[in-house]
Amino acid sequence: MSQRDYYEVLGVGRDADESELKKVYRKLAMKYHPDRNAGDAKAEERFKEIKEAYEVLSDSSKRAAYDQFGHAGLNGGMGGAGAQGFSDAFSDIFSDLFGMRGGGRSNVHRGADLRYNLEITLEQAARGTETKIRIPRQEVCDTCHGSGAKPGTSPKTCPTCNGHGQVRMQQGFFSIQQTCSHCHGSGKVVSDPCTDCQGAGRVKRHKTLSVRIPAGVDEGDSIRLTGEGEAGASGGLAGDLYVVIHLASHPVFQREGNHLHCEIPISFTVAALGGEIEVPTLDGHARIKVPTGTQTGKIFRLRSKGITGVRNQSTGDLLCHVAVETPVNLTARQKELLEEFESISQEDGSLHHPRAKSWMEKAREFFTE
Ligand SMILES: [Zn+2]
Ligand SMILES: [Zn+2]
Repeated sequence: MSQRDYYEVLGVGRDADESELKKVYRKLAMKYHPDRNAGDAKAEERFKEIKEAYEVLSDSSKRAAYDQFGHAGLNGGMGGAGAQGFSDAFSDIFSDLFGMRGGGRSNVHRGADLRYNLEITLEQAARGTETKIRIPRQEVCDTCHGSGAKPGTSPKTCPTCNGHGQVRMQQGFFSIQQTCSHCHGSGKVVSDPCTDCQGAGRVKRHKTLSVRIPAGVDEGDSIRLTGEGEAGASGGLAGDLYVVIHLASHPVFQREGNHLHCEIPISFTVAALGGEIEVPTLDGHARIKVPTGTQTGKIFRLRSKGITGVRNQSTGDLLCHVAVETPVNLTARQKELLEEFESISQEDGSLHHPRAKSWMEKAREFFTE
């Protein structure tokens, strides 16, 4: 078992993300793949090493254990990875590269992946939730167990391709392999179709599934439920179900990454005189001291009152944006007081309204030039 640092083996930084790992792995694996280096023991050694490193780093829990404890964190479970042949990680990545899915013929009929758009509230996204979803999908027919043949009969070997599912055609110098058009690649034909699924082997059904949404998910994140997509034809693997998260708009908070924003309207007297206001947070209330002379647009930042992200586990802040509210529906008495206030303020306007004063000066310069 190799004891070289896995990041070093792949030549990536410790912060490399999934897509970078995948890219680097593809490149290296292509280069050292035994098929391309027949009889080269060194290349084979290197290939095993690369594969082992990728298997660990591409698995988030193994990677976390490795990051914390090094090779010792892996419990020897990964030992001698090279000996067990092509693992899932390998076939996953190479399936599209070499134009095959895992190599097995049944995978030609892998069921379709499904997408389900799930809208959740901001609170649910912040704390995580478990919910039930109902999806329409193709499932394996119970009557014929997916074979498509009437019970008591069985599918026969396709006479066109002799059960290979593929036919070879010679075209000039080239020999081209094509999916058999008679059996559509399954290698079998049904002469007596099952009446419940009309020979398809699958039927449309609604299924209720329980989905656990981890805390911290954001708009557009997706959760993969392996094998919960559509059933495959002719006993092929089922596809996967992707639950894509959408956040409902919130009456108070707007989310931006792990930060939350909210607008706090305050009266102009509180803005001028200062005071204390109560603001909502995702877990209760918080109090903010408003200093005297607070202006619209001032932001109060409440540290760690945002959302803890699902990936990096860092917690965002809550940013409260002050909006000074102009009073409306004034009574005669209020008007009288404000008029008095205004006339006193006129005497030394620049002191009380420095922004208006400097703006007036700039505007005047602009017009006289
Ligand atoms: Zn059936
Ligand atoms: Zn055929």
